[in-house]
Amino acid sequence: MLFDRESWSLLNLDLHRMQLPREVVVGNNTLELTGEICKRLGFKKSALLTMGPKTQDIAGGKIIDLLSSDGLKVDHLVVNSCNIKDIVFVEDMIDELKPQVVLGIGGGTKIDAAKISSSHKEIPFISVPTTASHDGIASPLVSLKGLDKPYSIMAQSPMAIVADTNIIINSFHRFTASGCADVIAKLTAVRDWKLAHEVKNEYYGEYAANLALMSARLVVRTANLLKPGNEEGLRVLLEALISCGVAMSIAGSSRPCSGSEHLFSHALDQIAPKPALHGEQCGVGTIMMARLHNINWQQIRRTLKLVGAPTTAEELSIEPEHIVEALVRAAEIRPDRYTILDERTLTPETAEKLAKATGVI
Ligand SMILES: [Zn+2]
Repeated sequence: MLFDRESWSLLNLDLHRMQLPREVVVGNNTLELTGEICKRLGFKKSALLTMGPKTQDIAGGKIIDLLSSDGLKVDHLVVNSCNIKDIVFVEDMIDELKPQVVLGIGGGTKIDAAKISSSHKEIPFISVPTTASHDGIASPLVSLKGLDKPYSIMAQSPMAIVADTNIIINSFHRFTASGCADVIAKLTAVRDWKLAHEVKNEYYGEYAANLALMSARLVVRTANLLKPGNEEGLRVLLEALISCGVAMSIAGSSRPCSGSEHLFSHALDQIAPKPALHGEQCGVGTIMMARLHNINWQQIRRTLKLVGAPTTAEELSIEPEHIVEALVRAAEIRPDRYTILDERTLTPETAEKLAKATGVI
């Protein structure tokens, strides 16, 4: 017989593909290594860079010089957002310029634009974050804006991540605090995932779940270091954000990193006239979802305060009624994503009670 019983059952399991970064550098002046990394990965001819007007000054210009002096043909595009128009623009430029690799340089949208367009055009991409505001810097997912609903779609993992603490430390602390909150959000995201596994028999990957949880616990433990100008704390955060990205790559979805607290943030994006930062909203959502999950929401709130992230509607600059509406509508954002909000359906009254009990409003 060709296969024994055990290998036969293994062959019957669904194929699970994991795409992981090959080079990750975190530290002071790592930007200098961009040329060397490109060369080592085999990109010796050409590169296309996506950046914003600000990130061009902060890091983009320097990367153009570095790669050009290494003999690469370097083109760059300035993108302002990551809507369908921007993506089509970058894809058209990839068709025209035929680069070997795309480098996304910036906070969220510039990296997302590079990630999704390179994925569609089947060429690799390198992530060069200039802030540490969310886990998209290392994840295979992209959040698309400008559609009727916020969509998170699978694109590809970065082949390399170049995180220069010397640059990121000079970004506003608000971004770093937001990144901390996006990591802390995994405390409820993983709970939701486990719940979906127990109730709906959804696939649950213990390894990916633990990786996301470990990152969140590490940020909680080192919160006192996550202060403006503290490089040690920033390194912890960057490694945690990158680990969360890897957790999503391993899980093959955003499940280990995005649960009911993210649904609340997505709902706020639709409801609030001026939404706050992604991580900031997720952090406030985590406080409330933790209470629904019966886990230590006070500790989550304390940690968010300690790192300088918002814990109230006022600090988010969002009206209390929008918080309540977002809580009520969060479960509709992604009906396929089973979370605590499907177990504990919130009405305007119970949502208001929850927001009040946790001090959010
Ligand atoms: Zn997030």
